[in-house]
Amino acid sequence: MYTEAQAEYLLRLSDNINEGRLQKMVRAIVGANWGDEGKGKITDVLAQESDMVIRFQGGSNAGHTIVNNYGKFALHQLPSGVFCEHITNVIGNGVALSVENFIKEINSIVDRGVPKPHILVSDRAQIVMPYHILFDCYEEERLGGKSFGSTKSGIAPFYSDKFSKIGFQVNELYDDTDALKEKIARILEVKNAIIKNVYHKEPISADDMFSKLMEYKEILEPYVANTFDIVHDAAVSGKNILLEGQLGSLKDTDFGIYPMVTSSNTIAGYGAVGAGGIPPYEIKDIITVVKAYSSAVGAGEFVSEIFGEEADELRRRGGDGGEYGATTGRPRRMGWLDLVATRYGCKVQGATQVAFTVLDVLGYLDEIPVCVAYELDGERIDYFPSTTKLKRAKPILEVLPGWKCDIRGIKKYEELPENCRKYIEFAEKAVGVPFKLISNGPKREDIIYR
Ligand code: GDP
Repeated sequence: MYTEAQAEYLLRLSDNINEGRLQKMVRAIVGANWGDEGKGKITDVLAQESDMVIRFQGGSNAGHTIVNNYGKFALHQLPSGVFCEHITNVIGNGVALSVENFIKEINSIVDRGVPKPHILVSDRAQIVMPYHILFDCYEEERLGGKSFGSTKSGIAPFYSDKFSKIGFQVNELYDDTDALKEKIARILEVKNAIIKNVYHKEPISADDMFSKLMEYKEILEPYVANTFDIVHDAAVSGKNILLEGQLGSLKDTDFGIYPMVTSSNTIAGYGAVGAGGIPPYEIKDIITVVKAYSSAVGAGEFVSEIFGEEADELRRRGGDGGEYGATTGRPRRMGWLDLVATRYGCKVQGATQVAFTVLDVLGYLDEIPVCVAYELDGERIDYFPSTTKLKRAKPILEVLPGWKCDIRGIKKYEELPENCRKYIEFAEKAVGVPFKLISNGPKREDIIYR
């Protein structure tokens, strides 16, 4: 728990959004849970006032759903600022760039009437190669019942290669083609040995790989820039910058439910690395998105998970038209709000304030269970343990009264039903960070500033 002095300090830090008017600073929007908290929506709401929106980690393996005046969109690779013409959108060096998804997404939003967005791709971003996707699929197939439940977007093989120093940075496409051919041949020698001997599949042709990279070179040409200096200049000249996170704290490679995590750091602190050009001390506001109940995709520890009809009903009513993965369409696993995991998730992010989302969904329940602590080997604990212990943790639930009405359309905090405010305040107290934004519907205007 936070002391009173700490709580006061956080309250002061979070006092920078006034009825949606943002003080100019570098601000991160990140998730406290397993992802799918509604970060896309919160980013879209706050993006309108921003000069720059930057994706700093992950790839097209997760999706943000955004509902605005152009319609409903699922973005996987593009920053959520693409709907506002005045925003510079940046794909930072920390991102796994799928060139095919990148261009497909630009075309798909432009085809639906969105003005052509302003997007820059860092010349230090690395490219998801076709063989990364193949390796992701082959490995999941090899693991069978022990698979990670990967979205098969090539993300784990991509980051493995990045840190093994055999990745392709975007700038390499515009360099000496002989050097590129030599590098492809060198890498494929090893990849093909694995493909042949471990996976028993067809080898990859170096010529095909080179042609693919030349295709990518042409596609990316209008977007590539030395974003490091552009971002740095914007940060130190006081522009409004949003760092947009993908997934959530519990999927972070270091702090999440390892090994059922993603292959990049999902935390705001990584924004200083993955966005490129942001001095760490400039990330002043860390809006951490917390979902009013829990959901998760893929395998991994999920202490407050629920099953059966109870879960089906929440899944059916959840999000905007049901809790199904934005990238894969898979039904999400469902659970009650886990305050142990959320408190930890907020600390991991360094949350300065919380955006509490999808609260409207809970309006059908007479009573709402929340997980307030865990039982571990017969003892009550209130910290989030490492994975080996987490596997044995059981939820300790408390039940709060429901509000039994539709809260969409409410604009003022005081107008929310009393039990709904009590639910928010109960969670806020347990998490220890001010809940300043309340999202009561999927649309841009469904937001309450507190
Ligand atoms: P993200 O990856 O964190 O952006 O989350 P997703 O887009 O995967 O999932 C959030 C889902 O909830 C989307 O379908 C959103 O349109 C929807 N959503 C976001 N905020 C709210 C809210 O306050 N109420 C409701 N009912 N749906 C919301």
